[in-house]
Amino acid sequence: MSSVRSLVTPEKLLRPEVLALHAYHVPPAGGMIKLDAMENPYLLPQTLRDEIARLVADAEINRYPDAAARELKAAICKVTNLLPGMDILLGNGSDEIIQLLALAVAKPGAVLLSVEPSFVMYRMIATFTGMRYVGVPLTEDFSLDLQATLDAIKREQPALVFLAYPNNPTGNLFDAAAVRQIIQAAPGLVVVDEAYYAFASDSFIPHLPDYDNLLVMRTFSKLGMAGLRLGFLAGSAAWLSQLEKLRLPYNVGVLPQLVATRLLEHHDVLLAQAEDIKLERAGLLAALDEISGVRAYPSAANFILFRVAKATRIFEGLKQRGVLIKNLDGGHTALTDCLRVTVGTPAENQKFIAALQDVINQLA
Ligand code: PMP
Repeated sequence: MSSVRSLVTPEKLLRPEVLALHAYHVPPAGGMIKLDAMENPYLLPQTLRDEIARLVADAEINRYPDAAARELKAAICKVTNLLPGMDILLGNGSDEIIQLLALAVAKPGAVLLSVEPSFVMYRMIATFTGMRYVGVPLTEDFSLDLQATLDAIKREQPALVFLAYPNNPTGNLFDAAAVRQIIQAAPGLVVVDEAYYAFASDSFIPHLPDYDNLLVMRTFSKLGMAGLRLGFLAGSAAWLSQLEKLRLPYNVGVLPQLVATRLLEHHDVLLAQAEDIKLERAGLLAALDEISGVRAYPSAANFILFRVAKATRIFEGLKQRGVLIKNLDGGHTALTDCLRVTVGTPAENQKFIAALQDVINQLA
């Protein structure tokens, strides 16, 4: 049968906003000291790894997972100290939850508002779910510009506001009173994204009952489970029961459910690792401060943003020396000459600092 239709191409078929997007780029890191993605650098203790091996060996991977993930949800609620009346929704990473929230509110013309610079997926997901994205600039020291944010909220009437607390890639915790004013002023949902909660000293989980439009999102990716892909959204049952309709029934697989449930029984081990990372963060910040020409920003997360002349060449020089960090130069204008390094093990941090000093000396 001869075909009469003309050639089907992506350019003809796909939405223009999808064609205009660039895929989220994840560079290969084989053999490198990997300090680019805010992972926990520590492996689990051997006894726990053996326990997981046994669990996985017996897992019924021929069956679909528990669609409601009852055991895992109970384990998460327990370690999160959720208040009565609050519930959680699970995501295949918190990225998936951002997408689910955007899908839920994306009426024609609906706005997703965040601050800039912040987590790039807010803008990207707004774009591919057909929402209009509005980014309010942070101040020069990366604090919230409260008045500008309140003005933008009044003007744009966003259906959804995302605030990363602490913020990525800047690492700072915003002023909590300012965040509360934003929640109060917002006509729609405000999602406080606590991806880095384990390294920070504050949380909005206890404030959930105070606001009818507040949801708190967290991920276990930075707490040693990035490979499992598991995030959650906490809030009132009124919101979550609606959002559940958009969650694909088996979005968290058998193995992530089993392994995360078991790991959360050892939450103390993971939190102890986070405490070690916080200590290392202080050392890394002090070491960066000692390098002339480097301006490092204080961080409440497991990474540090720093500014240095010739950032892209320094990034490349580090890569040649086997250290992969994140180059933010050339992206957002507020991040010109900025690089971001994840806090690694003491040995990794030392190698990073030595390599950085070496590259800077060579470029001088
Ligand atoms: N929110 C913020 C602020 C992040 O930095 C990240 C990861 N970089 C995420 C959400 C997504 O994390 P995940 O999908 O691994 O849960």
